[in-house]
Amino acid sequence: MDSVPLNDLSRLTEAQRAEIVRAHAAVLSSGQFLNGPHIAGFAAELARFVGVRHVQPVGNGTDALELAIRALMPAGRNVVLTCANAGAYASVAARRAGFEVCFADIDPTTHCLDPERVRSVLSEQVGVVVVTHLYGRVCPLEEIRADARAVGARVLEDCAQSLGAATCEGRAGSLADASTFSFYPTKNLGALGDAGAVATQDDEVFDRVRTLHQYGWRGKYTIEVEGGQNSRMDELQAAVLRLRLPLLDDWNATRREIISQYAARAPRSVRVLPAEGPGHSGHLAVAETEHRSRFRAHLDQRRIHSDVHYPTPDHRQPAFAGAFARVSLPESERLSGRVVSLPVFPQLRADEIDRVGEALETFDS
Ligand SMILES: *Cc1c(COP(=O)(O)O)cnc(C)c1O
Repeated sequence: MDSVPLNDLSRLTEAQRAEIVRAHAAVLSSGQFLNGPHIAGFAAELARFVGVRHVQPVGNGTDALELAIRALMPAGRNVVLTCANAGAYASVAARRAGFEVCFADIDPTTHCLDPERVRSVLSEQVGVVVVTHLYGRVCPLEEIRADARAVGARVLEDCAQSLGAATCEGRAGSLADASTFSFYPTKNLGALGDAGAVATQDDEVFDRVRTLHQYGWRGKYTIEVEGGQNSRMDELQAAVLRLRLPLLDDWNATRREIISQYAARAPRSVRVLPAEGPGHSGHLAVAETEHRSRFRAHLDQRRIHSDVHYPTPDHRQPAFAGAFARVSLPESERLSGRVVSLPVFPQLRADEIDRVGEALETFDS
């Protein structure tokens, strides 16, 4: 029996092979590999899709976070506040930008930053609050935005997992001062390598990101802003992303449908986090159980792949350990020992979905 993969990117690339080859052949003939028409086209199309004025395509999602944090940080401040349960991307980006990181704990039901705990950590040193819409679920922003504004801090949405999710206010990525995206191949909108983007409604933030992403240049060869880097998306990636963006809403609906089938078949000892409705992109099918190792062994026996997003909270990452030794985030720590991700991607077959459902039903804690 074949195994059920967590993800299998070859299914989509095979289905789109002819279109991708045609698009890439045209890029090869054009001789334009960077800063060309696909980058401009993708930036405009993503801005329209998300509902923002500006998009700057960049090299990857972590660079997008670093650039957005640098662009948003008010003068005289140096702290980024974020959650510790989302893979440490924002922490890595903030520290690389030279800022300090502080954490707030999460709401154990949603796995999102808990607005009350954010309020208790906010201070006049905090310049940027990064809200990660984890697993694809749009986190509540209203209170965090109001509290951040009250102390002069700005809010950044990390939408690497939530592109396409929407609230009545608009899509994820249009709900705060700026937002970042990753098009890493396994994201809901994936490239054939690394790619990312920053989006914002704010002309000044956009100008800073655009400048910083290319050496600090405003025009060619003139460095007007210190702290620039080189982080460009290339035309070959943008060409693929333009083929795929129109399909994203349907793909996300399929992901949500798969997750709701798992939820319907989960035993009492396994809670599948809900991913219903437009407020969720269905990025990951995450379940929570106190019997994780036995549950994963049960999946293994049935040749069903699983993974953990994420096993180590940011403040316990070995490289940061010294900095956060005294930080305690009970919910983030507890849930990092309980979460487990099940296979979900739009090309997952009905028989494979059924095998995962059957494994859930037969798990006897
Ligand atoms: C994938 C991911 C990133 C980083 O994106 P890269 O393109 O791999 O740098 C950042 N934040 C979250 C929440 C992610 O899932």
